[in-house]
Amino acid sequence: MRAMLLERPGEDLHLRTDLAVPHPGPHEVLIRVKACGVCRTDLHVRDGELEHPKLPLVPGHEIVGIVEARGSGITALQEGDRVGVPWLGWTCGECGFCRSGRENLCDRARFTGYQIDGGYAEFTLADERYCFPIPSGFDDIAAAPLLCAGLIGYRALKLAGVAKRLGLYGFGAAAHIAIQVARHRGQDVFAFTKPDDAAGQDFARSLGAVWAGGSDTAPPETLDAALIFAPVGALVPAALKATAKGGTIVCAGIHMSDIPSFPYRILWEERVLRSVANLTRQDGEEFLAIAGGIPVRTTTTPYPLSRANDALADLRSGRLEGAAVLTMQG
Ligand SMILES: [Zn+2]
Ligand SMILES: [Zn+2]
Repeated sequence: MRAMLLERPGEDLHLRTDLAVPHPGPHEVLIRVKACGVCRTDLHVRDGELEHPKLPLVPGHEIVGIVEARGSGITALQEGDRVGVPWLGWTCGECGFCRSGRENLCDRARFTGYQIDGGYAEFTLADERYCFPIPSGFDDIAAAPLLCAGLIGYRALKLAGVAKRLGLYGFGAAAHIAIQVARHRGQDVFAFTKPDDAAGQDFARSLGAVWAGGSDTAPPETLDAALIFAPVGALVPAALKATAKGGTIVCAGIHMSDIPSFPYRILWEERVLRSVANLTRQDGEEFLAIAGGIPVRTTTTPYPLSRANDALADLRSGRLEGAAVLTMQG
């Protein structure tokens, strides 16, 4: 089979055309990949900012595909079923986090496209217990960004609590889905982009932002909560300054540049600063039902598998509108 392999962090991925199709073990299904979203986390893995990846590694954790074969012990999935494979690939079920409904924090969790080979390939394996059915209203490419960008944005929205005026810092794949969920919940969204990104600000307004501007400007109204998707630590004090008493700031990325020191008074008055890590299967089930019901509309830029490096470069430079998605043609 063909796959794009990370052989050494810091280097481009390599196209391989001669890999063996993997064989499903217990609880695993073999999936013929139809589309795989490109997430900023893939860029952090590629750049070596996340330590100790499996090597060589097939990245990719926003996988949409068709079950092609089943290993032993499979109870739910059938050959031909369309499934989604997210970042959370396996948890122990035994640690204190797993036993308290927080499997996203499992001490022994394994993640797709990081410790487990992912979806930048024609075939991949996944534990059926961590796969999700894909709502029927989405084609394969449109569904791919739901599996991380959508899911993490949804978990971040939940953690931000009740907030009429919601700030979104960084308007990429995650924010363009989160705004649709937030608006469906009746929230007013204020979108922050890079200061000179007029196209990104137009995109945010086209999706219903009541205001869009550069992250170096103050919003016209005080925010009740903010989600930070851009991996830029300097946005943390900016978001705190823009947020009202009691408001929550959620850092939604897996990696961020250092946060500059800031005066205590901008955290004072019960503002909450927190991160969001990974997902639980319950998040996935809830979010996919909501996304199908609204329905969420994703904006995607498809790339053939062999151009995964170009997709990562475009994500890095911010040239993309919405989400990059790899397809298995070409
Ligand atoms: Zn665990
Ligand atoms: Zn991701």
